[in-house]
Amino acid sequence: EPGLYLVATPIGNARDITLRALDILASADVLAAEDTRSLRRLMDIHGVALDERPLVAYHDHNGEKARPRLIAALEAGQSVAYASEAGTPLIADPGFDLARAALDGGLAVTSAPGPTALAAALSIAALPTDRVLFNGFLPNAKAARRKALGELAAVPATLVFYESPKRLGAMLADAAEVLGGDRAAAVCRELTKKFEESVRGTLSELSAVYDGAPPKGEIVVVIDRADAGVSAVDDLEAALRDALQTMSVRDAADV
Ligand code: SAM
Repeated sequence: EPGLYLVATPIGNARDITLRALDILASADVLAAEDTRSLRRLMDIHGVALDERPLVAYHDHNGEKARPRLIAALEAGQSVAYASEAGTPLIADPGFDLARAALDGGLAVTSAPGPTALAAALSIAALPTDRVLFNGFLPNAKAARRKALGELAAVPATLVFYESPKRLGAMLADAAEVLGGDRAAAVCRELTKKFEESVRGTLSELSAVYDGAPPKGEIVVVIDRADAGVSAVDDLEAALRDALQTMSVRDAADV
């Protein structure tokens, strides 16, 4: 079938790929990848031959230049499979502009869903998953990071962040300060890999664990929402204020 296929690939363990993803990689007319070498390696592991098919690099730095070629292939009725370096395309990874351009051109866009560190971390963090806000990577600079955290302080949802090992200690310290040290959180590291580890605790506890002791590998930080008791009181206050305001507006209108 012609169209753009956004193909999820493993986040560590090479066997975490779906049969359908392998079918699409085996049959697409054109392959595109954020990192062509890692896609080739993955295809090799699973015995999927590239043969004479083009394998196009498509990443943040060449997207603008590479996009027209992929869109032209789609317009010519070909199927294009795109894989980011790991996990699901568009999830803190390239693919947005490509999918958007294809859809704007009336071309079919299909997902071949599979691994993403976001869902993997959520499934084991032991924090509520009914409402979730994915934040990708926080800004690098301390002031900007604290501001971003401040904006999230009252959000009534579980917060998910991607983080680098080097910044983890500083991020947890800022989070403890800005969001409150008592919040439950989890640091999920090297998911699906040999040294997978998840550490759960309050933000203060986790901040102490990683202070000056950066771990190795890839990391997702999951943080609980603001304490429900506090936000319920806030809600009540806001509701009362709104009600009073509506009443006074109505009274004024009656006069
Ligand atoms: N597209 C990917 C996905 O669907 O999860 C995310 C790509 S983003 C550039 C890379 C970041 O994802 C890492 O820095 C880390 O925060 C997170 N990540 C990816 N693989 C991971 C793993 N195996 N364990 C923990 N975190 C992971």
